[in-house]
Amino acid sequence: MFKVWIDAGHGGKDPGAVANGIQEKDITLKVSLGIKERLEETYENVQVLLSRSTDVFLELRDRTAKANAAGADVMVSIHCNAGGGKGGFESFRYTSASQNSIKLQETLHKAIMSKLGRIDRGQKSKNLHMVRESKMPAVLTENLFIDVAADADRLKQATVIDAIIDGHVQGIATYLGLKSKPVKEDKPVTQQRDINIPSKWAEETWKEVTDKGFFDGSRPGVPITREEVGIVVSRLLKYIDLKG
Ligand SMILES: [Zn+2]
Repeated sequence: MFKVWIDAGHGGKDPGAVANGIQEKDITLKVSLGIKERLEETYENVQVLLSRSTDVFLELRDRTAKANAAGADVMVSIHCNAGGGKGGFESFRYTSASQNSIKLQETLHKAIMSKLGRIDRGQKSKNLHMVRESKMPAVLTENLFIDVAADADRLKQATVIDAIIDGHVQGIATYLGLKSKPVKEDKPVTQQRDINIPSKWAEETWKEVTDKGFFDGSRPGVPITREEVGIVVSRLLKYIDLKG
């Protein structure tokens, strides 16, 4: 069972970036809950653990301590950006990241950008607590800018939140090599038949073989056993004999 640690940035008394009528802590929580639901629903053999699943404050050291203690296979910390400019998406690994962290960042970044479309600010490295103190491959994502009006408008759209969730889910699944759960197919709609009434297409033949005594005429709609075939063949042979 793979363990994925998802860290929703900020929370409680720490709202993160606040502008354009949105708070970073709300977006990061929404995205994190969405990643857990979709990853566990779509893929086999994976469990998603969360730093927080409600609007509570957590110290950074508690977040990484919990992820390390849980023995998570990967850690992704979810944030939104601020600082003005043109906006867009960027991701961070630690300044001296492991090969696996670099691979996780590469996979995640590409998957998220393919869903978001624009603007790619690049795969970066920085001395950030969450990616430095996590023992497992770790990446921090900055999902659009709260204080850039065009990005804030996008973050208010359910389809954009959905794209961010989807990108993270696909990136993590690709990195871990997760196997999709079999698609639940609806059972084909079949007409319930009355086994005591012959099908329309078999009516004439059924009448003929019952008139001749090969079948006793009961339950035309049930499967036949070898013994019953034997009886029918025996009756047929006697019939041919009589004829002969
Ligand atoms: Zn943040």
